[in-house]
Amino acid sequence: PAWRADPGRYQASGAVYRRCGRSGLRLPAISLGLWQNFGDERPLEVQRDILRTAFDLGVTQFDLANNYGIPYGSAESNFGHHMDRDFRPYRDEMVITTKAGYDMWPGPYGEGGSGRKYLLSSLDQSLARMHLDYVDIFYSHRFDPDTPLEETMVALDQSVRSGKALYVGISSYDPDQTRRAAAVARELRTPLIVSQPRYNMLDRAVEGEGGVLAACDELGLGTAVFSPLAQGLLTDRYLGGDPVPEGSRMRLQRFLRTDVLTEDRLVHLRALAGLARDRGQTLAQMSLAWLLRDPRVTTVLVGASSARQLRDSVGALGNLSFAEEELSEIDAHSRA
Ligand code: NDP
Repeated sequence: PAWRADPGRYQASGAVYRRCGRSGLRLPAISLGLWQNFGDERPLEVQRDILRTAFDLGVTQFDLANNYGIPYGSAESNFGHHMDRDFRPYRDEMVITTKAGYDMWPGPYGEGGSGRKYLLSSLDQSLARMHLDYVDIFYSHRFDPDTPLEETMVALDQSVRSGKALYVGISSYDPDQTRRAAAVARELRTPLIVSQPRYNMLDRAVEGEGGVLAACDELGLGTAVFSPLAQGLLTDRYLGGDPVPEGSRMRLQRFLRTDVLTEDRLVHLRALAGLARDRGQTLAQMSLAWLLRDPRVTTVLVGASSARQLRDSVGALGNLSFAEEELSEIDAHSRA
């Protein structure tokens, strides 16, 4: 029999939505990111379990990009499979995003850059892989110093005008690039509504007056922050130190290197875990709650290698408030 989503999903713990900047779109405070764990290396049953769990919890946003998964494109193809099997009846209840900007296919038109030719052909390929007519948000995945920003923005604008995207976004643009992108978008009347920066307790470059959070706030853009758990460092995953757990990202991937796990770092991570325990949260939950306490953060894009992890992460929404002493203790351990 066909899978049916839980009728109680909009009363579930993840059914908390925030307006994305000054747009009319509301995004779930916690969204699911498919960068890792959705390629061909991960069994489809595990992926399905994570996706169904997310949707049943009220998580309505699914964040993808052209080159997610091993091999590139496989996260989108697998997502297309799950769309066909499970989610087709729910398409209008989902926000599905994709991006182009990093290396994707060989030759000068599919690697890096954000020129018109690459962006628009990549979007067509993404839609074909996901079996979708349109995505909700199409992103320029990174700023490209070799392409005029106007060209990138006109390409994003065309994705909307051609009906292949409803909104557009930018990712890893610095504050100045963000301001310039927003200015062109305004001129074109392109619905640029969101920026994706990396933000977590261990990487706070977006904070401060000159930071990208302030720029987005001023421009009316929402923010979807990525790697909110520092790829797993801000969870219970590595608290035991060496040897790191079998099957963890640090074991399987080149993106999270073992050398970040110094003795000093471990001391601070364990202290943060203790603080989380005192709050009745896991370290993952406290780390997400800490990000979401800032109203300029529209949504945190979490990764998960199991449904259990995702359920745990969504539990963060149970307590988003922090006492001053907790915040200073977190500052001390996260800036150390
Ligand atoms: P996270 O920082 O959320 O790390 C996810 C990893 O942390 C999981 O794979 C898992 O590790 C571990 N984990 C997650 N939840 C828990 C939990 N509750 N308890 C214990 N461990 C947990 O995010 P990612 O780095 O994966 O990034 C998230 C999303 O952000 C991506 O999927 C993508 O959508 C987006 N992104 C965007 C980028 C951009 O350039 N715009 C760049 C990077 C990411 P394990 O696998 O070891 O179990």
